Amino acid sequence: MSEIKNVLVSGGLGYIGSHTICQLVQHNYNPIIVDNLSNSCLEVLNRLEIINNRKFKFYQLDCTNLEELEIVFKENKIDAIIHFAAYKAVGESVKEPLKYYFNNLISYLNIMMYLEKYKVKNFVFSSSATVYGIPNHVPLFETDPVQKATNPYGSTKIMIEEMLEDYSKVHKDINIAILRYFNPIGAHPSGLIGEQPNGIPNNLMPYITQVAIGKLEKLTIFGNDYPTSDGTCIRDYVHVMDLAEGHVLTLNKFQKENTGLVIYNLGTGKGTSVLELVNAYMQANNIKIPYVFGPRRQGDVVSNYASTKKAETELGFKAKYTIYDCCKDSNHFQQLNPNGFVKINK
Ligand code: NAD
Ligand code: UDP
Repeated sequence: MSEIKNVLVSGGLGYIGSHTICQLVQHNYNPIIVDNLSNSCLEVLNRLEIINNRKFKFYQLDCTNLEELEIVFKENKIDAIIHFAAYKAVGESVKEPLKYYFNNLISYLNIMMYLEKYKVKNFVFSSSATVYGIPNHVPLFETDPVQKATNPYGSTKIMIEEMLEDYSKVHKDINIAILRYFNPIGAHPSGLIGEQPNGIPNNLMPYITQVAIGKLEKLTIFGNDYPTSDGTCIRDYVHVMDLAEGHVLTLNKFQKENTGLVIYNLGTGKGTSVLELVNAYMQANNIKIPYVFGPRRQGDVVSNYASTKKAETELGFKAKYTIYDCCKDSNHFQQLNPNGFVKINK
């Protein structure tokens, strides 16, 4: 229950981090950005400065480097940490488990060491709906069991959630929020920042946007024989600006009360099928997306979407953007940035 001003945002130049920076600024928080550029680039910082019409304190460093990381804490009075920095590609994590365990777990542990040493009282962790595994019902509630992960990426999220629970039991004065994201899509309305994966995208929305600009020929929909109304899988697609807002609302709550450890789903509470998303994209942007049906993707969950009741009641979180807004904003970003984050002048 203390004032929060300076917020260390690890992974702050990444997709969700960069949008969260904008929302933090809107709500008068002062973000201090840490990123090693392993999945982002300096141009994102340039664009954040254009959008927000201000400079940011930025540390290009790796959170796994204990010595370098301490500089941030020595040079700034950190009031809260939002920890985004992690690798996130499920398939790659299966092929290179050590890389994922090392980066995600060591980054987390180092950050927590300094949280304790420098008496930071507020911590927000980026978790994922993946911790629910194969759901036996939808919507998913925060009280639903966490299931054994099917890949090392998911394991790192579950392990860190468990470590946070252990930590919280003996440090009840620290506010800790585990935010379980569903499927973030969309981009900042300016079109200056958005999702920019390396290589051929694995996720649905960036694949669609690259088909939309002709970079990829057609979308393959993985399976149309699932037990859903149109046979394709269902997810909870949430606009990244809404998701970013969820972090601000969490910090607002931290300022008002001592929460201990809290867990929130961040989604829309609505399921959308792959076909519905593709059709919404075509309608919203008046673009044709050629697609074919292919075999199921191994390990895919048929349907998952959030119950957002808890986040709504306790945080005041409610997704404002529709699926059409998401499709428009994703497309806008991709059309403006067909070749990624090319340098633009201020
Ligand atoms: P992202 O890859 O765009 O952003 C992560 C950022 O962290 C990148 O800028 C990368 O350069 C940086 N980074 C990685 N390792 C680092 C390290 N050791 N030190 C410093 N910086 C490092 O990913 P995102 O989509 O913005 O995801 C952010 C967080 O949210 C991640 O923890 C991810 O697991 C989690 N998450 C993402 C999704 C999703 O679909 N995007 C869903 C659920 C959870
Ligand atoms: N999907 C698809 N074609 C693609 C990429 C994804 O049909 O090229 C489907 C995928 O099978 C899943 C949905 O889109 O049903 C969302 O996939 P994504 O990887 O974006 O999210 P996740 O499955 O990790 O929730």
